[in-house]
Amino acid sequence: MLKKLAKVLLIMLCFQIHMCYAIPGKLVEIKDNIGTVDYFGEKRKVLMDSEAQAGDYVYAQGGVVISKIAEQDALKILDFWKEKFFELKKVDNQLAKIEDLEASDNLLEILQKVNLRKELNNNELLNLLRLKDKNELKLLYETANNLRQKEHDNACCVHGIIEFSNNCRRNCFYCGIRKDNNIKRYRMSAEEIISLAKHAVDNLGFKALVLQSGEDLSYTDEELVKVVKTIRKLGVLIFISIGTRKKELYKKLYDAGARAVLLRFETSNKELFKKVRPETNFEERIELIKYAKKIGYLIATGFIMGIPEETEQDIINNIILTKALKADMYSFGPLIPAKNTPLENQKQIDINSVLKVISLCRFMDVRSKILVTSAVETLHEDAKKQGLLAGANSLMINLTPHCYKELYSIYSGRPDKDITVKKNIKETIKLLYSLGRAPTDIGHT
Ligand code: SF4
Repeated sequence: MLKKLAKVLLIMLCFQIHMCYAIPGKLVEIKDNIGTVDYFGEKRKVLMDSEAQAGDYVYAQGGVVISKIAEQDALKILDFWKEKFFELKKVDNQLAKIEDLEASDNLLEILQKVNLRKELNNNELLNLLRLKDKNELKLLYETANNLRQKEHDNACCVHGIIEFSNNCRRNCFYCGIRKDNNIKRYRMSAEEIISLAKHAVDNLGFKALVLQSGEDLSYTDEELVKVVKTIRKLGVLIFISIGTRKKELYKKLYDAGARAVLLRFETSNKELFKKVRPETNFEERIELIKYAKKIGYLIATGFIMGIPEETEQDIINNIILTKALKADMYSFGPLIPAKNTPLENQKQIDINSVLKVISLCRFMDVRSKILVTSAVETLHEDAKKQGLLAGANSLMINLTPHCYKELYSIYSGRPDKDITVKKNIKETIKLLYSLGRAPTDIGHT
């Protein structure tokens, strides 16, 4: 009886602490800085960014080994996971099946090309984007989900995001924290950011954190470097999302241990870019994304959908540009009108417009991660689920303290405004399990 109770307690502990975001695996080989990690017999290739040696148990995120874990701790967690891991896969396999649905010959031909992993041409992409029929949309999403499952299995990454300052020097037309908006501003101190990150890693189990702010020049390079260095030591993958800043700063932060950059180009249409992002430069932004990729960062980039005068061709071009920038993660979402901004009366697009683009991105770039952004979540209460079933495989959970979160009002009606972090984690895990997804991010087969 006591033994049984101890097992239940262990399972509960693993659930609370380690289950959320990563499963440890055994590093079986390292060759030219590329490691092979074994997860229950499945081998994944990962980039080494840790002192770990072959034979060690490690955590990987975004395909990067981020930390070692003591063998006995790893074995306890793996003991919990071994059955769950395969149970979840079964559910995912089941949900990733494609139903036999009525559709036009044209659509079936295009989807056949997708299944044969052939590249779609511009007209075909436009045809998919214009789909309206309910059955055809269902078929589109199911095909994308099936492709996602074949390529990524049931892995889904869940990253935590900390919005550390809502100060910004820019005046983007769609953004609620633009410089000219008269809102209450906040700026977390370096110590506050570090302590929040520590809580996220030690108490909530996060293995990947996004540090995001407006373009706030008041932090010195040294301060940001210190923040990144300290947080990296916690054994976590760090994304930085601080906008258009000097290349030197991006290099310093890479050297300090940041390994991913979240920087959207927003729109591939240079004229629209100029209109909605005054005093910013399209070429400079693209150049910065390319530079970050070149020096070794993982890249999360993408666009906003629903900018006034945007055409369907712009959307296709946005997807093409994201791919051309070699995005490791696609990040895009609808323009949600923010109060007191020049676009506050802009009409919002609907959830299907976004789901179609998620599917198209999956077709265009089967290996990438595709994020269901929180802006998408404002379009429908089930948006996360629908996005994950239309080809997406990444989520973010907002970790910004409540007192600041409502001030980081980049758009109005944030879906996570009133939900506590713990509740958000609990609901996200519940959703992932219902879809058979393991909240992991463990590299490629
Ligand atoms: S979109 Fe980014 S750069 Fe533009 S105003 Fe908002 S926070 Fe600043």
